[in-house]
Amino acid sequence: MCQGEPGIFGRSYSSTKREVRADVVPNEIVPVGSYGLKIIWSDEHDLGIFTFDYLRNICMCKECAKTEAFE
Ligand SMILES: [Zn+2]
Repeated sequence: MCQGEPGIFGRSYSSTKREVRADVVPNEIVPVGSYGLKIIWSDEHDLGIFTFDYLRNICMCKECAKTEAFE
């Protein structure tokens, strides 16, 4: 599910969610400034910047769980 674009502050610019086919995969991951990543998907949509903060928040690895505990 594409949820629109998480912005610098983790807010979404777009209110519309749209279905994304299950076989859509990232084709390319491009750094955006020093704060995030842009993902270019196999269906060519590339809306949205995934901030490192956002990615840390949704990551379930032990390392990120530790980071979250300090916030
Ligand atoms: Zn992690």
